[in-house]
Amino acid sequence: MKTAIYPGSFDPITYGHLDIMSRAAKLFDKVIVLVSYNPAKPNCFFSLEERIEFVKRALGELKNSENIEVDSHDGLLVDYFKKREADVIIKGLRAMSDFEAEFQMALVNKDLFYKAETIFLAADVTGTFLSSSMVKQIAAFGGDVSAFVPHTIITDITSKLEIKK
Ligand code: ADP
Repeated sequence: MKTAIYPGSFDPITYGHLDIMSRAAKLFDKVIVLVSYNPAKPNCFFSLEERIEFVKRALGELKNSENIEVDSHDGLLVDYFKKREADVIIKGLRAMSDFEAEFQMALVNKDLFYKAETIFLAADVTGTFLSSSMVKQIAAFGGDVSAFVPHTIITDITSKLEIKK
């Protein structure tokens, strides 16, 4: 039984994230999507509860989501990794720009806990430009984000942006 952890802020989840989840679910017996606190991104636009709820709703759009679980954690990833007796950490790579930080993080996690291996999945070619911040920027100016995020969360995104205006 091989367990993978896919951590991220998911602020909000995009089709790029969903693609990584779906592919990881085919490779591992269990995938835990870990909605995490990232000290490098302290000001998430959506609350932890909203981000978890969006991931759960988005997973409803996937055919193969039976082995995907959603959880949250605000400490060291390796502590959660040990607690869940996981086998790998999954990361999505969009471009060289992701690589530097992700490579460093993978080395640090391995140093903190020797069993914490990181596996990188290359982003789907259609999602290489897609990011949560881009979605928020487009939605903030009233643009159409339906190609980028699951339709079940679009109204939540636009209405929160309206309230914050
Ligand atoms: P973080 O706060 O850790 O950067 P994100 O929510 O931005 O979290 O991303 C979580 C993971 O998903 C990271 O490994 C990131 O590289 C990957 N990712 C983000 N967007 C995409 C995408 N469009 N395609 C593939 N992977 C992606």
